[in-house]
Amino acid sequence: MKRRPKAVVLGGGFAGLEAAFFLRHKLHGKADITLVSNRGYFLFKPNLIYVPFGENPEKYRVWIDQPARRKDIEFIESSVEAVDSIRRMVHLPDNEVPYDYLVIATGAAMRAAEIPGLADHAVTVWSAEEMLKLREQYRRISEKARESRQRLLFVVPPNNLCPGPLYEMAIMTETWLREQGVRDSVEITFTTVEETYLQSFGPRLNTVIIEEFAGRSITGHRRWTVDHVEPGRVFYSNGESAAFDLLVSFPAYAASKSYLSLPQDERGFLQVSPASGRVESMERVFAAGDASNYPVKMAFLALLQADAAADHIAAEILHTKPEVEFEPMCITVMDYLNKATFAQVPFKYTANPVVPVTADAFDEDRYKVGVSPLWRVGKKVMGAYLPWRFSSGEPFHSGFVWGAVDLGLKIAVKAMAG
Ligand SMILES: Cc1cc2nc3c(=O)[nH]c(=O)nc-3n(C[C@H](O)[C@H](O)[C@H](O)COP(=O)(O)OP(=O)(O)OC[C@H]3O[C@@H](n4cnc5c(N)ncnc54)[C@H](O)[C@@H]3O)c2cc1C
Repeated sequence: MKRRPKAVVLGGGFAGLEAAFFLRHKLHGKADITLVSNRGYFLFKPNLIYVPFGENPEKYRVWIDQPARRKDIEFIESSVEAVDSIRRMVHLPDNEVPYDYLVIATGAAMRAAEIPGLADHAVTVWSAEEMLKLREQYRRISEKARESRQRLLFVVPPNNLCPGPLYEMAIMTETWLREQGVRDSVEITFTTVEETYLQSFGPRLNTVIIEEFAGRSITGHRRWTVDHVEPGRVFYSNGESAAFDLLVSFPAYAASKSYLSLPQDERGFLQVSPASGRVESMERVFAAGDASNYPVKMAFLALLQADAAADHIAAEILHTKPEVEFEPMCITVMDYLNKATFAQVPFKYTANPVVPVTADAFDEDRYKVGVSPLWRVGKKVMGAYLPWRFSSGEPFHSGFVWGAVDLGLKIAVKAMAG
């Protein structure tokens, strides 16, 4: 009897679960699917921004074993050590997993140590643990602000590939300090290496942030490249420096796992053909999400990349033509606790190596931005919809519920974004 082809997916985040569930959705029983991840749960990272303001991070976990079992996907909780693309084998600490097709979706990690002093003196916004630390620091700052003036400094350093959450956090913090009745005693400063605020999201987001910062008395500086950090002070390469009582940063990105046998850039991100996610010069290896070398790292993009990779694998197994290609367009909502900004951003490549992709601002049909308290509901809907899909073992973009969510989104965009 002919053996069923075996697809192996590495990583249980946005891209990994989407790829595994999309493969099952497309292939039904025509392939064996194995998912390997170093923790037993999926984490809805975008909602970690609520943790410093009191939410329990456990709320944002989806345990993987049950939906995997329901979809006949073998789940191995283990850390990937290496990939042998010649023998088509994934190495785990105590065994090997063979594959016919492989999707690598092990995400990104932070490299705070790239800036001397940053890891020692800043709280970073990356993991649930760090967000809990930030909660403690916010409590401390808010108590101290009742006695003396406090300085809160947010810093985007070079090579951060997803600065949006730090902007979101700065503006949320401003709202929260007002709610605590201590806003007037806290100076908030935001510095970024970018030439414009949220540069890869284009001119309209820059304008939104300029207006929010002005309306909230947040001092902002663009083109400030952090050089090093000492206790209580950040030094920049333009000769400026900024004092802080609390420093919050979203550090430089690198691949969470470097696969030495595969083509990668200097930060370990796997070099892929963007449309399919196929790793360059590899016939049967794909990468999706933050692990790939697409220069903007976001959950929505990770889902689209995973769909494209899974669809190309399914087409090869079914001997059909692929139907899905990765179209770089991102949808995101930034919550400020009292209102939110919605952004739908089609990306295009640039000739600028510092900002290799940016919003295609001339694509007026698709480049949409809106600011309204109602967009907070949009963020909540997405935050409920995706974990629910994954807990049912279903991919994000499929089925009639996705049809309804998509339609609702289109109506909301028409009504509340221009
Ligand atoms: C605070 C914060 C807020 C954000 N807000 C937004 C937002 O509003 N909108 C948006 O679009 N994006 C947002 N992002 C970015 C988004 O979360 C990431 O782009 C997204 O998580 C990428 O998905 P991924 O599957 O590639 O990686 P991840 O979600 O990081 O998943 C990687 C998976 O691989 C596993 N793994 C890692 N190494 C190994 C190994 N060696 N062996 C086995 N398994 C391994 C991990 O455990 C994890 O399960 C935010 C990120 C943060 C930190």
